[in-house]
Amino acid sequence: MRYRCRVVSNGQLAESLFALAESHPAGELRLSLLRAAYAVFDAPRELATTRRLPDTVPLDTLPTVEMLRSAASEDALQALVQRLRGPYPPGGAATRTGFLTAAQVAQFSASAHPLDPRHLRGACHFHTQASDGVATLEAMARGCVRRGASWAVVTDHTRGLACVNGLDAEGVALQRRAIAAWNRRRGDDLWLVQGLEAEILADGTLDVPRRARDGVLVVAAVHTGLAERRDYTARLLRALEEPGVWALAHPQGRLFGRRAGIRANWEVVFRAAAARGVLLEINGFPRRQDLAPPLLSLAAASGCRFLLASDAHHPRHLAFDTTAVALAAAAGIGEAAIVNFSPLEKALADRLVG
Ligand SMILES: [Zn+2]
Ligand SMILES: [Zn+2]
Repeated sequence: MRYRCRVVSNGQLAESLFALAESHPAGELRLSLLRAAYAVFDAPRELATTRRLPDTVPLDTLPTVEMLRSAASEDALQALVQRLRGPYPPGGAATRTGFLTAAQVAQFSASAHPLDPRHLRGACHFHTQASDGVATLEAMARGCVRRGASWAVVTDHTRGLACVNGLDAEGVALQRRAIAAWNRRRGDDLWLVQGLEAEILADGTLDVPRRARDGVLVVAAVHTGLAERRDYTARLLRALEEPGVWALAHPQGRLFGRRAGIRANWEVVFRAAAARGVLLEINGFPRRQDLAPPLLSLAAASGCRFLLASDAHHPRHLAFDTTAVALAAAAGIGEAAIVNFSPLEKALADRLVG
C-alpha cells in the first residue's frame, strides 16, 4: 500500500545515485553509490512497483536508495540529492542521457506495439571464443536456436589494433569450416553465416584486406581514439566506400557512463550509407544502445535500413536484441526497414550467402 504513490522511475533514481556518487571523493562511499546506481539501472522492473530492492544494491546504500525512491515528485527527488550530495560537482550526466533502463526495455517487450521481438528471424553481431566471447560457436548457435532465430551472423573481431585476440586469416578459415559443419548438421534449424567485426582505421580503411572479405559479412566499427573530440565524418564516409561493408556497427561509439560518442555530421553519413546500401546497426548491448533514438529517426528519414545487433559475448547476451528492438520502436522504425525481421534470402539478397 505505502508503495502505491511512488513516482520515481528507475532512470531518475539511477541518475540521482550517479550524481551523488560523482559528488563524493574516490573511496568506499562513492563506489557503493555507483554500484547502487548500476543495480537500479539494470533492475528488470520499476522499483516504484516492487517492494524488494535488487540484491545487487550494496547494504550501506540501502537507506539512501529507500529515501530517494520514496520521493513524492521529481522536485522532491532533486531536493534530496542536493541535501545528500558531497563536495564535488557531478559532471557525467552527458554520458548517461538517452539510454533505456532494463525496466523500460522489459516494459516495452511486454506491451503491444508494431515491432514484435517474436518476429525476429536473424540473430546478428555476436562473438565467440575465437575472439573475445566466452562461449563456443556451437553454444552461441544453440542459443540463437533457443531464441527462435532461423539465421544468424557471427561476427568475431579481426586481429587489429582494437582486439589482440581477434581472428587472423587462419582463424577465419577454421571458423568457416566449423560454420559449414554446423550448417550440414543443423542448417534447417539455423543457418549460420560468417561475418567479421572489422576495425575502421584512422584513415577510414579497414584492418581486413579486401580478399579476406569475400563471402564474409563485414560489420565495420571504430574502437580506437573514441575519446578524441575531433570530427569523424570523413573517416566514416571513407569506411562506407570500402568494398564488402555490410553494416556500420555501433556508429556513435558511445558507452554508458563513460563516453558520449563521437562527433560527426550524421546527416551526411546517413545519406551516404543509404546511397551505398550499407546498413546502420542498432546495437542493443545495454551499455552501448547505439545509435540513440534521435539519431535513428534522422537515419530513417535519410533512407537508411537497419541491422539489430545483440553484440553478445555470452549466450545470455543474445537477448539484448530486445533492447535494440525497443530503441528502433522508440525511433518509430518499422519491421520492413530492419533486416532481422526478414527471412535469410531476403535479408542477404544482395550479398553472398556462405
Ligand atoms: Zn565493437
Ligand atoms: Zn561486437
